Amino acid sequence: MTRSDVIVIGAGVIGLSAAIAAQARGLTVVVVEREEPAAGASAGNAGAFAFTDILPLASPGILKKAPKWLLDPLGPLSVPPAYALQIAPWMFRFWRACQPSRVAQSTAAQTRLMDLSKAELEPFLAQTDTLSMLRKDGNLQVYESDAEFRASLPGWEVRRNHGIEFRHVKAEEMAALQPGLAARFILGTFTPGWYSIADPKLYTLALAQHFRSRGGVIETAEISALRAISGGVEAVATNGKVRQAGKAVLAAGAFSHRVARTLGERIPLETERGYNTTLPADAFDLRTQITFGGHGFVVSKLSTGIRVGGAVELGGLALPANFRRSEAMLQKARAFLTGLKPEGGVQWMGFRPSLPDSLPAIGRARATPDVIYAFGHGHLGLTQSAGTARLVADLLTGQDPAIDIAPFSPQRF
Ligand SMILES: Cc1cc2nc3c(=O)[nH]c(=O)nc-3n(C[C@H](O)[C@H](O)[C@H](O)COP(=O)(O)OP(=O)(O)OC[C@H]3O[C@@H](n4cnc5c(N)ncnc54)[C@H](O)[C@@H]3O)c2cc1C
Repeated sequence: MTRSDVIVIGAGVIGLSAAIAAQARGLTVVVVEREEPAAGASAGNAGAFAFTDILPLASPGILKKAPKWLLDPLGPLSVPPAYALQIAPWMFRFWRACQPSRVAQSTAAQTRLMDLSKAELEPFLAQTDTLSMLRKDGNLQVYESDAEFRASLPGWEVRRNHGIEFRHVKAEEMAALQPGLAARFILGTFTPGWYSIADPKLYTLALAQHFRSRGGVIETAEISALRAISGGVEAVATNGKVRQAGKAVLAAGAFSHRVARTLGERIPLETERGYNTTLPADAFDLRTQITFGGHGFVVSKLSTGIRVGGAVELGGLALPANFRRSEAMLQKARAFLTGLKPEGGVQWMGFRPSLPDSLPAIGRARATPDVIYAFGHGHLGLTQSAGTARLVADLLTGQDPAIDIAPFSPQRF
């Protein structure tokens, strides 16, 4: 049996970034992916490096908005009745994470991971020949009323305290930043430090190509179990094939907890399902990403089209997709962006891998230090991919992690 230094489970943006970072430290790496690279959430996301998004979703603000949102079955937040019982323990933990003292801790931890991820990003893109895919078009968050704008101010104050650059803009400047925005949006906040990638699927595929070009191997298999063995780890596939390595990195997105459970660990990973429609590139002359915060969706400009999407559906991994959610957001986008052409779109649903406190799990398994977890990045997996890769490589090579990873401990629940 050939044995690599490292097996990475999952060829999404997290697994591939970690694999490349490990490879760059001189380790031999095999990635095992059950479908193909970029088969999961990393393909269809909004493509944003949302470095300014340091406030956890689990916060008092969401608790205020949630009751209204939940009343609309196609609104920004939904819990399908068929999944309500299963998700209840996760929601309870989410609610506990909304306590102000915990929010402050999560924000501080998130900020450190964001700063690391931002610092690592451009060197990583240069290393993987993907720098030309980076865009620095910013994000415009828009508000429909003075009350909505004022409700956002405490969050902006927290961001200011963490050194994040932004400016509040009135109708005239908004129209200059983004012509065609409906007049119902009277105020906005522009964050120039919000970057994006030309297309998240093409980016993830480019990472796979780079990894292979440096001798990396991507094998197709579904890993059903991990086992600690003398001097390393064994990964068992559903077809019975066993692979051995010195270390394993579990980066299987929203499915990671299933594999972690085979090591005896129960991690409260759930999925926040998200939806979108990607329209042809000429559907609208988009100048910046636009966040319609009160409606829970964004409109993003990709090299491959205009993507309209977002929403959170706490519906687990098995229920069929409800693409009426994609349609509902597209209908709103039509009303909000004058001249948007809604024809010719492709709908998509993806599984955000989410932990209740809105922070990822980055750290060693309880059962063995040779398994490293890297999952649960929720809404921010692309954003935090380069920082996570750096931390995983530090752990694989026995170095002190670049930042304190205690807040991301997989055992914190
Ligand atoms: C609508 C939407 C919009 C989003 N927008 C953004 C955004 O703008 N910016 C941002 O930063 N994030 C965004 N996200 C979140 C982001 O997409 C995710 O956090 C990120 O893609 C997670 O990456 P991952 O590699 O952990 O998981 P995935 O991309 O899901 O990859 C996991 C891989 O593991 C494989 N796998 C699973 N189980 C096994 C197994 N047992 N054996 C082998 N392989 C396995 C899967 O097939 C998959 O390829 C968005 C998500 C959604 C749904």
